[in-house]
Amino acid sequence: MESRVDRQLRALRLAKACAAHGARVRTICHLTGMPPREVLRLFFEDRSAVPRGRPPDSPEWYHTANLLYRADASIVMSMYGRLRAAGFGGGDSLVGAYGQYNCISHGSRRISFDRAFDLASHTEGIWLTRAKSFSLVACPSCRSEFLASYGTIASSNDPCPFCKLVERFRTDPRVQASYPVRPLVVPSPRQLGLMALLGAGRVERQAQAAEG
Ligand SMILES: [Zn+2]
Repeated sequence: MESRVDRQLRALRLAKACAAHGARVRTICHLTGMPPREVLRLFFEDRSAVPRGRPPDSPEWYHTANLLYRADASIVMSMYGRLRAAGFGGGDSLVGAYGQYNCISHGSRRISFDRAFDLASHTEGIWLTRAKSFSLVACPSCRSEFLASYGTIASSNDPCPFCKLVERFRTDPRVQASYPVRPLVVPSPRQLGLMALLGAGRVERQAQAAEG
């Protein structure tokens, strides 16, 4: 069983990761169970850096948000859902999913950590509310998971933000700028030669192992 010290250390580690992602005090308290005063003392020495303003409220926001935001919200929640399904705790899953999102968004994040926390709360019915407002639904056409109103059964790809993005890509400069086409990496003849050698080496070793 986890000792008190281990539990506190785990809460501190989680709180530190949340603060590094720009979480507000309230979010950190919900995720770690730490009291607000303690969170302020440890992570916001500079009081002017405390995130302020109205916290996000996603159930309405999502349905009026533009396509790029809905796609990003769906990406974060899909990653979160996978980590939850793999057995990770809510806080760890959120930090993990947000870290992955950070990596793939190349510095142009549309979803804040607090927004991700709010979306997860309203998808799973935890932390802020017991009421579920969202479900993660698999698109019958592109198979991507996207956020939809709770209980939605997708019978067409109509509500799927990813299918819409693909449709709009050719004509919408804003979508093109958000998803720049990256050149394919073509291996040089030297790299190809090296790969062939490594492959041959592996086959030889396998053959030797089979003989021995
Ligand atoms: Zn789709």
